[in-house]
Amino acid sequence: MDLRSRLADIDARISDAARSAGRDASALTRIVVTKFHPVGLVDELAALGVRDVGENRQQELSAKRADYDGPALRWHFIGQAQTNKARAIRAAADAVHSVDRAKLADALHNARSDGDDSVLDVLLQVNLTDDPGRGGVVPAGVAELAEHVLGTCPSLHLRGVMGVAPLDEAPASAFERLARTSEIVRRSAPDATWISAGMTGDFVEAIAAGATHLRIGSAITGPRPVHG
Ligand SMILES: *Cc1c(COP(=O)(O)O)cnc(C)c1O
Repeated sequence: MDLRSRLADIDARISDAARSAGRDASALTRIVVTKFHPVGLVDELAALGVRDVGENRQQELSAKRADYDGPALRWHFIGQAQTNKARAIRAAADAVHSVDRAKLADALHNARSDGDDSVLDVLLQVNLTDDPGRGGVVPAGVAELAEHVLGTCPSLHLRGVMGVAPLDEAPASAFERLARTSEIVRRSAPDATWISAGMTGDFVEAIAAGATHLRIGSAITGPRPVHG
């Protein structure tokens, strides 16, 4: 299958999953994860109508966004973020899915250039594993982090939560936990309705559990090139 067919195939599977879950597929945002692929792939995707792309490394995001000159895209940053890269991330991303600590929220907030009154969309990344070393705030810390963003980072727009299902658990139960953290966040921020969940292997389960933003890479792009 070529890129166009793979994209159409995934979109059909997204529609089927939405129908099975009694949800409206038009309310779902399908982000194509283009990490490790050259900017030419982003051009091809844009020509096929893709408007949301995802990258997980700041340098690659910044370089690709600078090289790309097609129709306007929304660039989603979905990777672990270092605070010392906050300025570069803020400059290149339209949404950051991986805010997992107050220091990072502060860094992104303070990374505005002078006179910049833009607002950056952010999601709180929730650690759905038992391993505290993995990215994401633990579920018990979500409410406090949400309060921090809402109370002290006015240039960030808290949009919702993001999660990656652990490898050693059925994705459905992990995504249920994510949905509960979404409810907690919406008690403080009623418009923080985004749930970023679901990858190539588990987007059907994510849709069933209420995901609004799917991050799908290899099923659409094909295998990622090996990266040094
Ligand atoms: C790479 C990546 C994806 C996409 O993974 P696929 O399995 O290729 O669909 C989604 N989310 C995050 C955080 C990623 O790093």
